[in-house]
Amino acid sequence: MILLGPPGAGKGTQAQRLIETRGMVQLSTGDMLRAAVKAGTPVGCEARAIMERGELVPDSIVSGLIDEALAKTPCATGIIFDGYPRTLAQAESLDALLTAHGRHLDRVIELAVDEDALVDRITGRFSCARCGAGYHDRNKRPRVEGVCDVCGSTEFRRRPDDTEETVRTRMAEYRAKTAPILPVYEARGLVARVDGMAPIEEVEREIAALLPA
Ligand code: AMP
Repeated sequence: MILLGPPGAGKGTQAQRLIETRGMVQLSTGDMLRAAVKAGTPVGCEARAIMERGELVPDSIVSGLIDEALAKTPCATGIIFDGYPRTLAQAESLDALLTAHGRHLDRVIELAVDEDALVDRITGRFSCARCGAGYHDRNKRPRVEGVCDVCGSTEFRRRPDDTEETVRTRMAEYRAKTAPILPVYEARGLVARVDGMAPIEEVEREIAALLPA
């Protein structure tokens, strides 16, 4: 399945739930690119400045990452594409890659959200530097200030591209380049729209009801 929606729509959060409840794997090109930047690989070096500006990394790079990840994923394991595809060219590459790896798409779930609320969601978010648990300045602070609820770590981090200016660029990129993918999948009867502004548990229930048993 593909989780589609602007930055901050809750794709990562919902992917995490699906991993826990259904044993699916999440293929997030954003996570792969951040890992490449951290490791200083050639892909990371090329992507770094582009990501900091909130623009899109070239299609060939992200489709290459997805190809490698598909080759490593057991065929019986369901996949959540998170943050990919983001352009029409990537959607075409994904079709070819799925065929090559003997897979097919069951669903495209669009998380529909209000853009102004997203800016608040994104600029307030941070995560545990050790276990990755997600928090928010206003909506979800750790139970004990400065200590991760899950693992007890006292170190937290923020994504360098979670500033208001970059978020606005990322949203403009979404509107211009990613939203046009939807009609393609709509024509194939794959798209379901879920209200991404609803509470996390409700979004989770709606998504579960849309997936094959
Ligand atoms: P994300 O974690 O999905 O919000 O992605 C963070 C950043 O990584 C984006 O703002 C882009 O710069 C880059 N990126 C992630 N996925 C893609 C993709 N499929 N195509 C192009 N750029 C991407």
